[in-house]
Amino acid sequence: MSTVFASPSENGQTSGATGGASTSAASTPRRSAVAAVTNRLASPQTINFVDVPAQEYYSTNVFTKSVMKDRLPKSVYKSLVRTIDSGEKLDPEIADIVASAIKDWAMEKGATHYAHIFYPLTGATAEKHDSFLSPTADGSTLSEFSGKQLCQGEPDGSSFPSGGIRVTSQARGYTIWDVTSPAYILENPNGTTLCIPTAFVSWTGEALDKKTPVLRSMQALNKHAQRVLKVFGHTDGAFVASTAGPEQEYFLIDRNFYYARPDLLNAGRTLFGAKPPKGQEFDDHYFGAIPERVLAFMCEAERELFKLGIPVKTRHNEVAPGQFEVAPVFESANVAADHQQQMMLTLRKIAEKYGMACLLHEKPFAGVNGSGKHVNWSLGSSSQGNLLDPGDTPHDNAKFLVFCAAIIRAVYKHQDLMRAVVASAGNDHRLGANEAPPAIISIFLGDQLTDIFEQIKGGGANSSLPSGTLEVGVDVLPPLPKDAGDRNRTSPFAFTGNRFEFRAVGSNQSISGPLVAMNTIIAESVDFCAGRLEDALANDPDSLNSAVQSLLSEIVGECSAIIFNGDGYSEEWHREAAERGLLNLKTTADALPHLASPENTQMFAKYGVLSARELHSRLETYQEQYCMTVDVEANLAVNIARTMIFPAAIRYQNELASTCANLKVVGFEFDTETLDTVTALVKSLQDGIATLEYAIADDSAVAPEDACRHRCDAVLPSMLSLRETVDKLELIIADDIWPLPTYQEMLFIK
Ligand code: ADP
Ligand code: MG
Repeated sequence: MSTVFASPSENGQTSGATGGASTSAASTPRRSAVAAVTNRLASPQTINFVDVPAQEYYSTNVFTKSVMKDRLPKSVYKSLVRTIDSGEKLDPEIADIVASAIKDWAMEKGATHYAHIFYPLTGATAEKHDSFLSPTADGSTLSEFSGKQLCQGEPDGSSFPSGGIRVTSQARGYTIWDVTSPAYILENPNGTTLCIPTAFVSWTGEALDKKTPVLRSMQALNKHAQRVLKVFGHTDGAFVASTAGPEQEYFLIDRNFYYARPDLLNAGRTLFGAKPPKGQEFDDHYFGAIPERVLAFMCEAERELFKLGIPVKTRHNEVAPGQFEVAPVFESANVAADHQQQMMLTLRKIAEKYGMACLLHEKPFAGVNGSGKHVNWSLGSSSQGNLLDPGDTPHDNAKFLVFCAAIIRAVYKHQDLMRAVVASAGNDHRLGANEAPPAIISIFLGDQLTDIFEQIKGGGANSSLPSGTLEVGVDVLPPLPKDAGDRNRTSPFAFTGNRFEFRAVGSNQSISGPLVAMNTIIAESVDFCAGRLEDALANDPDSLNSAVQSLLSEIVGECSAIIFNGDGYSEEWHREAAERGLLNLKTTADALPHLASPENTQMFAKYGVLSARELHSRLETYQEQYCMTVDVEANLAVNIARTMIFPAAIRYQNELASTCANLKVVGFEFDTETLDTVTALVKSLQDGIATLEYAIADDSAVAPEDACRHRCDAVLPSMLSLRETVDKLELIIADDIWPLPTYQEMLFIK
């Protein structure tokens, strides 16, 4: 029988009926990747936490307050701490002394260079390194680091996006030392570098980065929070900082797969890939035993983060196979934002050491859960503690309810902004996909708090709760429970007992944008509340009770549409939200323009967070980023479809056709159903490529808003329909020809 299947050269067939795929099984990138994964040796290095206990690593690479205290003259140390803790103006006189102490400390730790670290609008972390050494006239070198070098740098940086604030001919940008975020040592096998967190501004003093507005918004929030505290009799002035605890979700896959997939490599997500037969439906990964290689990675990543003073606390498997989470203990928002950037870099770097790639994209794999970054937010001070802690006494409750109501009002009034700051090409695949909160912004308060606000709304004063008579006055308010009870994973903004959790943030995002938004809208509302209470007290010093009462009912009356405790994934909620008049900005193209709406522009300017020009430059930058991201993906999709999928498809088609022809020669009929399907899919593949190319080439949309719309309405749908064809081909083409690592392989091989 073997002669029936003889090769064409043997049986003299024409090339039209050549048999067999020309690609041998092991030569596809996919096969080589699988082979490499199969032959992987366990990671050689081990970390011994017996010899050096974890706590001994903590902050070893950080210029902490205690290091400062040891190394700085007392007066300098005190002055510096006043700036760090209380937001006082930095005394320029002390810069030289601090610089010299930091340099000595860093050089003792092997540093040869220092770097100003800054956070451009790309969302990345940027650094410019300079050597400590300068040549001297006598041919030797001198190690130098002046106060000026500590305080200010001038990276050229003309290629960073500025949304028109800087033209290349006026490219001066300055980095300015941010004392409130500690300097640290970055280790490398070949030396260490002193890293100084900085703000990045143009020569006109306009913000070009993500940090500057965080600092400004924290200042605004503090200013107005102090006024509310004063009303309640707290006048110590301890700086009220916003605090943030970001929970980072990420995927890990073997890096051989990563390098075999041009889409993952260049776009961070798979543009093709059929749903695996076994997905996440068993929920057998969620909180399951962490695979050994992954756990080894986590241990080392956490050790490195510990050295940098990043207080990582929890780690676990997430819902999707191959998905994990790490969360630190919360910190002051500005420091948390810097640490979060370090966290992303560290996860990526250490994953490589363990032969893996860490995927931070919001949706690396279609059909399985995407990754978010819940940003837990609160505000507090050294004397007040956490202001969103309901507290044990009625007096605390009233203060808590005022801050809580201010937040409800803020989110209600600026839903559009909250949505706009989480808008990105990546996050669009996640929000509203029944795994992440919907694109509709609402607040989950939990039963107890909702009940209280409901009663306030209904006139409040004397209604009954099981726990006693409720009067939203200062004296008779019952203690609130610390744990607000239920959790609701479907809510984009949830009260979780002593903080709010903003769940719509994308895993790949800098948390600065969301923090700036929260700090500023809440500063505005706190300002509003402070104004009301101050006015009332000016009229009648004993009216705090009734002033709080009427402020709360006013806010609840106006803003309660934003409160929703039900299932955010449900169809009914989408309908009800529309009835309530809540916004549903489904895509980045819909949401981004709201960033610079007249109301938001005015607010950012009023609180000194971003000028109109700065805000518009941001909008333009983000619109450009969205378009560039989609363009890269679209070009990649065409490229992969044409150079990897199409060849595989026609090889298989050819194999089927030649089988058919060969069988005919020897008098057998061949059922051509598979051949028909493959042929139809090849046709639709070619059409799909052509349609996508047409959409890519269409450059008639010029204005940024139109350009985004075009990507959203024409390019992405064409990519998706091309994907549908490719994914069907994956399910029918011979496995040994298929060029791309499959979902099954990437997600389940450990
Ligand atoms: P969960 O997964 O249940 O939401 P995690 O423990 O994973 O809880 O994360 C909770 C996050 O909330 C942590 O980063 C924690 O530090 C943070 N958090 C707790 N209190 C505050 C606060 N007052 N301000 C900001 N973040 C907070
Ligand atoms: Mg959470």
